[in-house]
Amino acid sequence: MDQISKVSGRAARSEALVLQILREQGSASIAELARLSGLGKATVSRIVAALRTREVIEETGEAFRSANTGRSGKALRIRPDTGLYLGLAIGPGFIHSVLVDAAKRVVDYQQEELALDRQLPAVLDALDLIVARVMADNDTDPSRILGTGVAIGAPIDPHTGRVGPSSLVPETFNAPLAEILSQRLGMPVRCDNESNCSALAEVLWGDMPKTGTYAYIKFDHGLGGAIVSDGQVRSGRRGIAGEFGHICYDREGAFCRCGKRGCFEQYLSISALLARAAPIYGPMSFQQFRERLSKGDHAFRQVVGEAGSIAGELLVLIGQTIDPEAFVLGGDLTLLGDDFLTPMRERYKALTGEDAPISIGTAARVLSGWEQQDEPALGAIGLVIKQPT
Ligand SMILES: [Zn+2]
Repeated sequence: MDQISKVSGRAARSEALVLQILREQGSASIAELARLSGLGKATVSRIVAALRTREVIEETGEAFRSANTGRSGKALRIRPDTGLYLGLAIGPGFIHSVLVDAAKRVVDYQQEELALDRQLPAVLDALDLIVARVMADNDTDPSRILGTGVAIGAPIDPHTGRVGPSSLVPETFNAPLAEILSQRLGMPVRCDNESNCSALAEVLWGDMPKTGTYAYIKFDHGLGGAIVSDGQVRSGRRGIAGEFGHICYDREGAFCRCGKRGCFEQYLSISALLARAAPIYGPMSFQQFRERLSKGDHAFRQVVGEAGSIAGELLVLIGQTIDPEAFVLGGDLTLLGDDFLTPMRERYKALTGEDAPISIGTAARVLSGWEQQDEPALGAIGLVIKQPT
């Protein structure tokens, strides 16, 4: 390689690095770009000037204050009108969609009900409908989509892209989902497990730090999780790293949807809690369950307290395995508040002698009318932002 192509190759890599930081951060000052990239400030200034001339990036008109150094400077971002990212989440009973502009700002968020017994063709039809509606509502079309991410409640093999067992949408088992969706939607699609996507949302839109190791635990319809190290979700050899819900709690317990017995998910999921409460008041929705609990019903508090205590044991196991900086909790069971969280903390402290480093996820707050379970579609966009097509 001659000297000129060596130099231009390095310049191209530096520019790509600056753009990638802006994609992930949303906005940053020249000083912050220099700090995060390791490039000199003069080099970053030259790159920024060239990108502004080409109308790829712009000043936001606001000041950027670095959370690390406290220094402020003019905030820069990728021009929002250069494209959009689409995130979709396929869950039990719903499809969620999120549209984010190139500057990482949420511009649209929608939900579509989806009957539990739908087969894969019906799921694909529902996706078609919601994507068409999102495009129409936002006066845009697939040609402006920079990338699409899809979250699903199942492990995805990182090598084959096939959906693993224990799916919350069983019809997708063993399907090469990204390939199928790319063909169906006519645009490149990346897919991952919904808990991995939620964890990625915490990295890109929430408060999860970008250095250190964190355990993300999602207490929702299922019990999932993810291991995040230095801002990267570690999916493991088969995509099942962080599947905390299928660690065994009781070998004599009931059969789980994964085929094993007594998994933690059998005790720590919305359906598990509703099943425990059913003998007392009959079948009910999670909303009705929360209302009963908020009225101080003793039987409900006991059911939730027992679950919280079991969750404390799970945290101890995870802590002994990966020794995270903190446990970041997500999912709708966290909406039960102290009735769930206090026994969790107490059990953890009883077993370890230490206070559990627990925080509640914050990423979904960027969505209007958010609930904890709304994160996966947002995080699915992270799959594309982290690895642009
Ligand atoms: Zn299981």
